[in-house]
Amino acid sequence: MSRGRGHEYQKARERLLAGGPVCVWCRERPATTADHVPPLAEAPAPELWVGELVPACHKCNSSRGAAMTNKRKAGPKTSRSW
Ligand SMILES: [Zn+2]
Repeated sequence: MSRGRGHEYQKARERLLAGGPVCVWCRERPATTADHVPPLAEAPAPELWVGELVPACHKCNSSRGAAMTNKRKAGPKTSRSW
């Protein structure tokens, strides 16, 4: 548990959503969450995520997250050879 990072993230997120931006992915729905850029899988360190946030609606944010989780799960499958 790192309280510092959570606090920073929350502040950055509040600042990001303060202006009532539109989701950067679909450009239709109002953004209610903060998404990470670059994607979590490509980020070299968690510290870099803060400040690299883009406004995203819940639908786009969660669908991107699900795609990443599926990718990670499917990864080690091929390591088994009979
Ligand atoms: Zn969206």
